[in-house]
Amino acid sequence: MARAAEWRNWAGDQACSPAVVERPGSAAEVAAAIGRARDAGRGVRAAGAGHSFTDTALTGGTLISLDRMRRVLEVDRASGLARVEAGITLHECSEALWSHGLAFENLGDIDVQTIAGATATGTHGTGARLRNLSAGLREIELVTAAGDTVALSEASDPDAWRAARVSVGALGVVTAVTLQAVPAFTLEGTDTTEPLGEVLDSVDERADATEHFELYVFPHSRLALTRTNRRVDGPPRPRRAPRAWVDDVLLRNHVFGLAVAAGRRAPRLIPRINRALAHASGTTVRVDRSYRVFASPRLVRFTEMEYALPREHAAAAVRAVLAVAERADLAVPFPIEVRFVAGDDALLSPAGGRDTCYIAVHMYRGMEWERYFRSVERALDGFGGRPHWGKRHFRTAATLAPRYPGWERFRAVRERLDPDGVFANDYVRRTLVG
Ligand SMILES: Cc1cc2nc3c(=O)[nH]c(=O)nc-3n(C[C@H](O)[C@H](O)[C@H](O)COP(=O)(O)OP(=O)(O)OC[C@H]3O[C@@H](n4cnc5c(N)ncnc54)[C@H](O)[C@@H]3O)c2cc1C
Repeated sequence: MARAAEWRNWAGDQACSPAVVERPGSAAEVAAAIGRARDAGRGVRAAGAGHSFTDTALTGGTLISLDRMRRVLEVDRASGLARVEAGITLHECSEALWSHGLAFENLGDIDVQTIAGATATGTHGTGARLRNLSAGLREIELVTAAGDTVALSEASDPDAWRAARVSVGALGVVTAVTLQAVPAFTLEGTDTTEPLGEVLDSVDERADATEHFELYVFPHSRLALTRTNRRVDGPPRPRRAPRAWVDDVLLRNHVFGLAVAAGRRAPRLIPRINRALAHASGTTVRVDRSYRVFASPRLVRFTEMEYALPREHAAAAVRAVLAVAERADLAVPFPIEVRFVAGDDALLSPAGGRDTCYIAVHMYRGMEWERYFRSVERALDGFGGRPHWGKRHFRTAATLAPRYPGWERFRAVRERLDPDGVFANDYVRRTLVG
């Protein structure tokens, strides 16, 4: 048990002062920490790496950090099944899997999140035939409010299993997961710029044509940056360290950071800056271990909202968001990010039951984000979107419930596993309980 200290997320704009911070080293210690919190009448939240933009991890009660629970427990190379502790980061897990000839089938654009935190919010990468990360789980070990450790799987408890895969931290503390990895593979990642109109007109075919396709749309520019990652035979060809630093840190972070900082100082320059950034993007190709191509460092701090929409609306929805981002009364220095994933069957997965296009909007730290994000949320309303649980949105349980066919089943599981609301913080009460 540690003295309370302020806890902040990566973006620096969500903070809380928990009464107690616990750093258990085992499931038994997690159960004991939950017991102490209950005895003191405190609520409990687990925090991962703090990479959510919402208040989802915040608590004034007991905050449980799993930073002492990040071991790889078992790996079976033949089946590809790996059992890992819940506090391991995706990067640590990727390195360990690679040493066994295995890898995640897909990842998002960073890999510093914990496996429990990433899956709890439905974190995803891009790939029209691939589902979000939580769909790759095969078993979840969870300590409930009563202090019981349960191992949830499709076979043991189908509804709790579908609820726990994207749990928003509302069912208990995940202590370990078993995940399905695939044989290690090399990715060739190509970034290039293309005319936006052509890309949007063929966005569906492009999403189907390669394993991983995404695009970035710079407001006020008629160019799109496309990113295409495809599997290739042959070994990785890692860039030399200075080259990787220039590409990943200097260009993608420092130069980009200077440009958006200039836009923050002089918003009227943003259209010109965006056009210059899009033009300067050029073409880069990387061939490396899959996880090194999927993820890259993010040094420029921002806040973000992301919506999961039925895939057939992709082009129309991007155009609607672009129209908002280019409004004269808004200054938007960040590109709009567009990705694709296959539907899955987790009850609260934003991609649940349908092939999905994700559209994300960002705002640089210190710039006004709320008017932009609210306007985008309104513009997307007619497309039946569902927000990412870890990214900003303005929805409540009342407006979310009709968008999730499995809503009541999730509620029933939550009432069964946490009848007294021990894991309910403000975010859970606002977005899940109502
Ligand atoms: C720079 C950046 C890039 C990002 N890129 C992507 C991307 O490409 N794709 C994408 O989908 N998302 C992306 N995200 C969002 C991010 O993946 C999610 O918000 C994710 O949930 C963060 O994981 P975390 O480990 O930081 O968890 P936290 O943010 O700390 O927690 C997230 C939730 O998980 C719960 N939780 C954490 N650990 C446990 C546990 N052991 N048991 C039960 N509940 C737990 C918390 O209570 C909370 O509700 C990005 C975020 C940032 C800041």
